[in-house]
Amino acid sequence: MAVSTGTRLLTLLEGLPLLSCSKLQQPVCLLSTKTRVSRYKHKQLSSSSSHHGQRRRLVILGTGWGSYSVFKNVNKKLFDVIVISPRNHFLFTPLLASTTVGTLEFRSIIEPVRNSGFRDEHHFHLSYAQRLDTENRLVYCESALDSTRKYSVEYDHLVIGVGAVSSDFGVPGVKEHAFFLKEIVDARRIRNRILTNFELATQLLESDPDRRRLLHVVIVGGGPTGVEFGAEFYDFFQQDLGRLFPEEKLDVQVTLIEANQILSSFDKKLRNYTEKLMKKRKSMNIVQASVVEVTATEVRLSNGQTIPCGLVVWSTGVAPRRFTKDLQLDKNKRGQIRVDDHLRAYGDGTGLVYALGDCASVEGQELPCTAQAAERQGIYLARALGETVKGEQPEAFLFKPWGMLAYVGGYKALVDKSNIKSQGFHSWVLWRSAYATQLGSWRLRMQVPIDWCKTFFFGRDTSRF
Ligand code: FAD
Ligand code: MG
Repeated sequence: MAVSTGTRLLTLLEGLPLLSCSKLQQPVCLLSTKTRVSRYKHKQLSSSSSHHGQRRRLVILGTGWGSYSVFKNVNKKLFDVIVISPRNHFLFTPLLASTTVGTLEFRSIIEPVRNSGFRDEHHFHLSYAQRLDTENRLVYCESALDSTRKYSVEYDHLVIGVGAVSSDFGVPGVKEHAFFLKEIVDARRIRNRILTNFELATQLLESDPDRRRLLHVVIVGGGPTGVEFGAEFYDFFQQDLGRLFPEEKLDVQVTLIEANQILSSFDKKLRNYTEKLMKKRKSMNIVQASVVEVTATEVRLSNGQTIPCGLVVWSTGVAPRRFTKDLQLDKNKRGQIRVDDHLRAYGDGTGLVYALGDCASVEGQELPCTAQAAERQGIYLARALGETVKGEQPEAFLFKPWGMLAYVGGYKALVDKSNIKSQGFHSWVLWRSAYATQLGSWRLRMQVPIDWCKTFFFGRDTSRF
């Protein structure tokens, strides 16, 4: 409805005289949808704060946990919301590991952002933000579809929620040979590699050493992502690969490499439980070491050991994106944008730039880089922005963690919530129900349980394409 009303409004406004936008000291035309397209193609998308009477132009960078939750929750009567992101979907990251083996299908955990009620179809840009000019309130962008298309977009308020990238900590060979697990394409690549390796192993003689190498999976990083990928792979191998590749099953190995302790953010009792559980599994082992090099066929460790393997999944932490690095705003020593307790960026001077999620660090609060924290900040910021333009003084942001969940395989999970520390099957039921209800739309809330049932009754799809 919002879309059609907006389009109608634009059509009505077409042909009206020029308005002057005082802040920019230049006349801004009331654009029809059509003229707007051509402007967008050529250079600059003008500010619309004056186009629609009272509505301010809110530009949001990113479609992740933080930015998407601002978009969904902000009062669209007060703002024209423009979203700029190289990704036209929201990704439910807590279930990403499940798609690497087909417990869930890729499209079951992503939500196309265009479904979420843009006033005008040109309000979503499939582009990268490249640079900011805070003085003139401009975001310089590059199309994600054609790198020769560059243009700028004006804002009245700007929200930066560009997240972070997986860090390789400068270890040689990681970028070239290891697989990160961050986006849906990463999950697809991992799934294909697993299936390729199993198919290839069937074509080699049992005595060929390459066969064992192909069936060896190395996971670097014992945080929740590494552990959950290991858990999903274990299920896949126990429930499907074992049945489909009975001979290869005997040679499958999973090695989890962690320099310190696995699941270090979890309660000690739960950590010990997970470690014991993994060690009990015949095909799995944990190695305490750090990786010094990754090649196409092996992983080299600090203790001199080399591990021949067919797949390396790398999940050791995050680092700032190029865009964040280049910003002329205050950063902390991890390269995150420093923001005050109203999520306003330091070092901008206008008070119109906000940042949240993995790319930001809230002054005086130790926030984890999690979906939970980013989403809470997004909900807060949507409300605070509304209050600000209405002339009210919003309350400060305060993060109250809900707790943590992790899947450890074999229908067992961990729940670490202030006073509840539990593990096993009951926690698994809670883990699944928590995520099934948190999914952002009814389509996903329907799709995910359907996939779970399909996997339970018919097994995972092992087609390789
Ligand atoms: P993101 O969600 O990463 O979103 C960033 C957005 O910015 C993306 O849309 C991206 O395309 C866009 N972008 C990138 N560059 C640009 C640019 N130049 N211009 C414009 N847009 C740009 N957290 C939990 O709380 N619980 C979990 O169980 C959990 N499990 C996880 C499992 C996995 C496999 C992974 C990878 C992460 C998990 N996390 C979990 C962490 C959580 O996903 C992140 O902390 C969260 O996504 C951070 O949100 P964000 O909004 O800061 O960034
Ligand atoms: Mg073991």
